[in-house]
Amino acid sequence: MKGTAICPGSFDPITNGHLDIIKRASRIFEKVIVVVLPNAAKKENFTLEERVDFIKRSVRGIDNVFVDCYDGLLAEYAKSHGAGIIVKGLRAVTDFEYEFQMALTNKKINCDIDTIFIPADEHNMYLSSSIVRQVAVMGGDISEFVPSDIEQDILKKLRRL
Ligand code: ADP
Repeated sequence: MKGTAICPGSFDPITNGHLDIIKRASRIFEKVIVVVLPNAAKKENFTLEERVDFIKRSVRGIDNVFVDCYDGLLAEYAKSHGAGIIVKGLRAVTDFEYEFQMALTNKKINCDIDTIFIPADEHNMYLSSSIVRQVAVMGGDISEFVPSDIEQDILKKLRRL
């Protein structure tokens, strides 16, 4: 499909669940920008630079995916980058209410933007950045949860905290 789509999130850190949505979006759209946004409602564990670096390493080799960060309204970022679509992953009904609210808010701010939802892969339904952090801190194995290139860096940082 022609045009640019945005995959936004806090990616603290990126998981295989996020990566699956990014890859699927890259097969649908001409260009995909993954945008890391600070989430004021959540405590941040990795710096913005670390999160961007983890995503860049995870999407290496996917030619139409770009990574950026932004500290402002997503709807405005989309407008200034000529992107008309926001892509979000939906894990379960629990994601739906929040995501629906965000989609309507973004549309209100910029009426040219639409949000599309991609259902999570059945293997990633349970996966979240906070689960990865908890398992890592407790000394568990996160190799099935995160891209292999960044696994050691995630463990190094979280086990030091
Ligand atoms: P936010 O802080 O905006 O919730 P997240 O980084 O937690 O950002 O998630 C970004 C997007 O990725 C959201 O649309 C979320 O639903 C989706 N997502 C998160 N985990 C998964 C997963 N395991 N499978 C599919 N989509 C996911």
